[in-house]
Amino acid sequence: MSKRFCEVCGSDTEHKEVMKQKPSKYGKSKKEQFKAFLDGFFSSSSTSIPGGASLELTDRYIVCAICGKATKENHGSEFQ
Ligand SMILES: [Zn+2]
Repeated sequence: MSKRFCEVCGSDTEHKEVMKQKPSKYGKSKKEQFKAFLDGFFSSSSTSIPGGASLELTDRYIVCAICGKATKENHGSEFQ
Protein backbone atom coordinates (compact mmCIF):
# COMPACT_ATOMS: atom_id res chain seq x y z
CA MET A 1 0.00 0.00 0.00
CA SER A 2 1.24 3.47 -0.81
CA LYS A 3 -0.18 6.97 -0.71
CA ARG A 4 -1.13 8.33 -4.09
CA PHE A 5 -3.31 11.14 -5.27
CA CYS A 6 -6.69 9.89 -6.43
CA GLU A 7 -8.54 12.05 -8.94
CA VAL A 8 -11.89 10.59 -7.92
CA CYS A 9 -11.41 11.09 -4.19
CA GLY A 10 -9.60 14.37 -4.76
CA SER A 11 -7.04 13.63 -2.10
CA ASP A 12 -4.14 11.36 -1.20
CA THR A 13 -5.44 7.90 -0.45
CA GLU A 14 -4.03 4.44 0.13
CA HIS A 15 -3.43 2.53 -3.08
CA LYS A 16 -2.54 -1.07 -3.67
CA GLU A 17 -0.65 -2.42 -6.64
CA VAL A 18 -2.25 -4.93 -8.98
CA MET A 19 -0.53 -6.79 -11.79
CA LYS A 20 -2.67 -7.87 -14.70
CA GLN A 21 -1.44 -10.10 -17.44
CA LYS A 22 -2.00 -8.74 -20.92
CA PRO A 23 -3.61 -11.02 -23.47
CA SER A 24 -0.84 -13.02 -25.05
CA LYS A 25 0.09 -12.20 -28.61
CA TYR A 26 0.62 -15.90 -29.12
CA GLY A 27 -1.99 -18.49 -29.91
CA LYS A 28 -3.08 -21.34 -27.70
CA SER A 29 -1.61 -24.17 -29.73
CA LYS A 30 1.42 -26.11 -28.48
CA LYS A 31 3.52 -24.72 -31.29
CA GLU A 32 2.58 -21.13 -30.46
CA GLN A 33 3.18 -21.72 -26.77
CA PHE A 34 6.63 -23.04 -27.60
CA LYS A 35 7.38 -19.92 -29.62
CA ALA A 36 6.29 -17.82 -26.67
CA PHE A 37 8.57 -19.83 -24.41
CA LEU A 38 11.56 -19.34 -26.72
CA ASP A 39 10.85 -15.64 -27.04
CA GLY A 40 10.79 -15.32 -23.28
CA PHE A 41 13.89 -17.46 -22.94
CA PHE A 42 15.99 -15.36 -25.28
CA SER A 43 14.79 -11.97 -24.15
CA SER A 44 16.63 -10.41 -21.24
CA SER A 45 16.21 -12.32 -18.01
CA SER A 46 16.24 -9.01 -16.15
CA THR A 47 12.68 -8.41 -17.33
CA SER A 48 11.47 -11.67 -15.83
CA ILE A 49 9.36 -11.75 -12.72
CA PRO A 50 8.49 -14.74 -10.52
CA GLY A 51 5.95 -17.03 -12.13
CA GLY A 52 7.55 -16.84 -15.56
CA ALA A 53 5.48 -13.89 -16.74
CA SER A 54 7.40 -11.25 -18.61
CA LEU A 55 7.02 -7.63 -17.63
CA GLU A 56 6.24 -6.87 -21.24
CA LEU A 57 3.11 -8.95 -20.86
CA THR A 58 2.09 -7.40 -17.59
CA ASP A 59 0.18 -4.21 -16.93
CA ARG A 60 0.66 -2.60 -13.57
CA TYR A 61 -2.22 -0.80 -11.90
CA ILE A 62 -2.64 1.05 -8.69
CA VAL A 63 -6.08 0.72 -7.16
CA CYS A 64 -7.54 3.29 -4.77
CA ALA A 65 -8.50 1.63 -1.50
CA ILE A 66 -11.34 4.12 -1.03
CA CYS A 67 -13.18 4.24 -4.35
CA GLY A 68 -11.55 1.33 -6.18
CA LYS A 69 -10.43 3.36 -9.18
CA ALA A 70 -7.68 1.55 -11.05
CA THR A 71 -4.97 3.63 -12.66
CA LYS A 72 -2.54 2.10 -15.12
CA GLU A 73 1.00 2.64 -14.01
CA ASN A 74 3.67 0.90 -16.00
CA HIS A 75 6.40 3.37 -15.19
CA GLY A 76 6.89 2.79 -11.50
CA SER A 77 10.16 3.73 -9.84
CA GLU A 78 10.55 0.10 -8.81
CA PHE A 79 11.78 -0.88 -12.24
CA GLN A 80 13.74 2.20 -13.21
ZN1 LIG B 1 -10.24 7.11 -4.86
